[in-house]
Amino acid sequence: DWDQLQRDLRSIDGQQYGAYKRLLGRYDHAGPSFALSVDHVQGDAYAAPSRVRAVMPLAQTGFPSGYLQSEIRRVALCDYVTRTAASIIRDKHLDRNVGGGNGGWSSPKGGAFNINAPGQEVLPRTSAIVSGDETIELRFTVALPAAGRTVLGQQANQILAINLVELIKNTLLHGNLDEKKLALHISSVENQHHLRQQLSANNLIAFVANGSILPRASGASATPMLDNSVVPFQSPPELSVTLTQADGVAVSGMGIPKGITLLTGGGFHGKSTLLEALELGVYDHIPTDGRERIVTDPSAVKIRAEDGRPVTGADISPFISTLPGGKDPKRFSTDDASGSTSMAANIQEALEAGSTSLLIDEDSSATNLLVRDARMQALIQNEPITPLVSKVRALYAQHGVSTVMVVGGLGDWLSVADTVIAMDYYVPRLITSQVEDVLRQFPSDVAQDAQYGSVPQRAVQVQVPGEISPYTASRSFINIKPAVRNPVADPAQAPQGIDLQGLDQLVEVGQARMIAATVQRFGRATEGKPVDLKSLLATLEEEVNLDQDMPATLSGGELVAVRKYEVAAALSRLRGLRVA
Ligand code: ADP
Ligand code: MG
Repeated sequence: DWDQLQRDLRSIDGQQYGAYKRLLGRYDHAGPSFALSVDHVQGDAYAAPSRVRAVMPLAQTGFPSGYLQSEIRRVALCDYVTRTAASIIRDKHLDRNVGGGNGGWSSPKGGAFNINAPGQEVLPRTSAIVSGDETIELRFTVALPAAGRTVLGQQANQILAINLVELIKNTLLHGNLDEKKLALHISSVENQHHLRQQLSANNLIAFVANGSILPRASGASATPMLDNSVVPFQSPPELSVTLTQADGVAVSGMGIPKGITLLTGGGFHGKSTLLEALELGVYDHIPTDGRERIVTDPSAVKIRAEDGRPVTGADISPFISTLPGGKDPKRFSTDDASGSTSMAANIQEALEAGSTSLLIDEDSSATNLLVRDARMQALIQNEPITPLVSKVRALYAQHGVSTVMVVGGLGDWLSVADTVIAMDYYVPRLITSQVEDVLRQFPSDVAQDAQYGSVPQRAVQVQVPGEISPYTASRSFINIKPAVRNPVADPAQAPQGIDLQGLDQLVEVGQARMIAATVQRFGRATEGKPVDLKSLLATLEEEVNLDQDMPATLSGGELVAVRKYEVAAALSRLRGLRVA
């Protein structure tokens, strides 16, 4: 029990740091009742911090049972609890830094709590988990305090036996939370989820509610632009649809129909901002975000050119008929793809993973994969590339895959669009009929392929060439430590790892950690034997159950749910993937 914890901490005061290991185990606190589980104790003061969990019976929390009624409500509740803990921890640390008072929790000798702090998206995370109808648990790290190499038992007691209890009381007890904010958080998330589920039945791939705030505070920030100059979103009348939220409230906005949609307009008029909002509409957002009523087909994938990426056995034959050096475009492999081949591979891999909507911005594309104008067709006879503009209709007709494309300068795309939206000083207008006039005035025959070609289905061998640890992942890179270190420095041996920079729909480092854990798990589970990539990904369908099959070393709170599309994209970028 708690006295035991305090006795243990007193007894190790002044001992070697390693004596902290004695804390491993479980301590029960009474009033409020919860169990503290010390799962991992750091080896020294400079090592990665210790991992602890507080597990409280739901009956003790006082959360209304309605908040636990559905999976999505539980996700929202846990997300809120994590945010509350993160903000308490941040404020307490700031207290010390600004005031130097006694209210702060951090000390230069250690003692800092840390919890994986969420951004603008509401996601299932391992930082807070409801198990069955029994318990809710909060997972975080704590740096155990030391003077040099010795244990500071008194401080540790303050941190673990006193501050931690305060943190738990203010995070897990319903009576201590801001009930209005919590209720809004849960209903907002449930409403978004509900809106997203209505898309397909309404023949839509996205919905942007009127009044949404799309632009961000800056290029480096995910928080909303708060200036007076911001123009709230307003649907063109012709595309206006009204959907019903989970709480019964009707909400109107712009529906983007299935098929081929162009977002066009002058430079700097808000095209990319709208596309970026659609990219992240696969996730739910916090109520103050401005994008909390923008929802997108949950399988939508942003496609971009990504020269330099590795490609393994990808079938890029719909776009590229022949490759120099007799390489087979049905099984294209390279360590260093070009703009067009990387973009072709990105499209094909998204389809392989099951995406039904592609989101593309001309700004981040390889032009030669998007179009080839009449003059270039006349000039270059043996061009092996069939551009997307010639395939995009067949892609929709044969495979039901929609495309939203931001176009500034490529007029050929006008001839293949079902819907053309022009952004005009941040205001969208439907201009499909003006487009018809323009097409009559400036006819151009864009060759159309009736056949899209094959959608790949690879059997892959997941071989991780070394040790992969979720704890060394960053938002843009997963490190892989080589199994055998080459004693002779070999400049050809670039740092091993999976480059995630091209994945615009990853929003948190915890998702990169989740991918790292998943790739590692796939490697172990398949033992390098060939498996159908699709069925491997199907094992992720239950992605909300984050803890399933997780190795014990991952009992921390650092993982965040990720879609199978990002996992597939990461696997495809693994140098060491083999295709049977
Ligand atoms: P485009 O892709 O059409 O060139 P962007 O989407 O990059 O334009 O937007 C240009 C600038 O306008 C960005 O700085 C963006 O933050 C800002 N912006 C976009 N939408 C709005 C809006 N609704 N209100 C105010 N500013 C906006
Ligand atoms: Mg742009």
